[in-house]
Amino acid sequence: MEGYTNANDISAVVAADKAHVWHHLSQHKGYETPDVDPRIIVEGKGLRVWDARGKEFIDAVSGAVWTVNVGYGRESIANAVRDTLLKMNYFAGVGGSIPGALFAEKLISKMPGMSRVYYSNSGSEANEKVYKMVRQIAHKHHGGKKWKILYRERDYHGTTIGALATSGQAERAIQYGPYPDGFVMVPHCLEYRKQWDVENYGERAADAIEEVILREGADTIGALVLEPVTAGGGVITPPVGYWERVQEICKKYNILLHIDEVVCGVGRTGTWFGYQHYGIKPDFVTMAKGVASGYAAISCTVTTEAVFDMFKDAGDHLSYFRDISTFGGCTAGPAAALENMRIIEDEGLLDNTLKMGARVIDNLNALMEKHKVIGDVRGKGLFCGAELVADRVTKEPMDEKKVAAVVAACNAQGVIIGMTNRSIPGLNNTLCLSPALIATADDIDQITGAIDNALTTVFG
Ligand code: PLP
Repeated sequence: MEGYTNANDISAVVAADKAHVWHHLSQHKGYETPDVDPRIIVEGKGLRVWDARGKEFIDAVSGAVWTVNVGYGRESIANAVRDTLLKMNYFAGVGGSIPGALFAEKLISKMPGMSRVYYSNSGSEANEKVYKMVRQIAHKHHGGKKWKILYRERDYHGTTIGALATSGQAERAIQYGPYPDGFVMVPHCLEYRKQWDVENYGERAADAIEEVILREGADTIGALVLEPVTAGGGVITPPVGYWERVQEICKKYNILLHIDEVVCGVGRTGTWFGYQHYGIKPDFVTMAKGVASGYAAISCTVTTEAVFDMFKDAGDHLSYFRDISTFGGCTAGPAAALENMRIIEDEGLLDNTLKMGARVIDNLNALMEKHKVIGDVRGKGLFCGAELVADRVTKEPMDEKKVAAVVAACNAQGVIIGMTNRSIPGLNNTLCLSPALIATADDIDQITGAIDNALTTVFG
């Protein structure tokens, strides 16, 4: 890209970055050495991005963390944000805004059974809102009982202390404790790494949740939080029968079901929401990343009218949800989100996601023939993973450094892919793919072709 190759400018940017920016999820020891450049992405269009040195990449992970669902360089979103900023950029969410009202209406139209949207800024925050709501419901409606929240091994719900208390990914949570009480882990449901040797694995994995409920006492459990398809924990698609049974269990014990759609939401899996593949009727749905595709910060905690009603009692001055998120009143988020949704609808991106997702899976399955290190291929829509193993029979996970070498070899070919990383000791072995929902067949073939080459480079 012209304009970004001026070594003097870029050197100054790199120097400023090295001197002052503390990067997310990064070990900085070693960054100070002159030959290590931070990655600075300066421009994007569609699925492609350019770094500060002018190198072009196809981004197969939508901004590294499954976010830019409609692709880069969307002028209509930029215009929607600009227009709203010039007219009315901010007023606290204790009142309403035009984009806030219109986006809530549009969102709810895609979520039968749901009715209320609470705005904040990040996935972590959206999840924290639910945890607070569940605790307040426990105080107000269950005499202080039903205050505990169940979460699942390998799932992830964010970085704040409350969200980390529900981290099923050990490496995310260690050294940041102690954590608040009342968050209890249930087993994961990945059939490839079976914990029970049974035929109907989905039901068995769900029954494991019931066992925890009975152990803790059903009258202590207020809610269960699950990702519809586990993201960073390994792109774990649920086994057949799992969700039906989970729903039954929640109903049986009067446990509110909270679906974390921070990654799966807004088209990523080929339906508006991941839970809609499985006929789930949630009580809470949280979403963030793809809601506005990263054009503005926004997250939503969505719930039913029945839950909303539990916070209405004019005679009790403590009954309303005593929470505010300052920037939940920004209008840029819902304005961008509204346009983001229009694009997905008008360009038929849900349909494209299903078709292109199937192509990713077919291509990866074909690679399994050639590369014995691929142990399992999983995915839903354009949210796919390939688990690498050292031995297909024993399923011994591939050494994380070798998986990282595959990612680096893709990078060298101009293809950015991801891997499960820094989450589960010994199981950071899944390659992750989640290109923008506009991906074409050629894009998909370029991405999986790069993986093919990379596997050959690293493993022969
Ligand atoms: N929930 C899930 C499933 C996530 O993957 C993430 C982030 O990756 C979060 C919640 C936290 O979102 P945020 O980083 O916006 O706080």
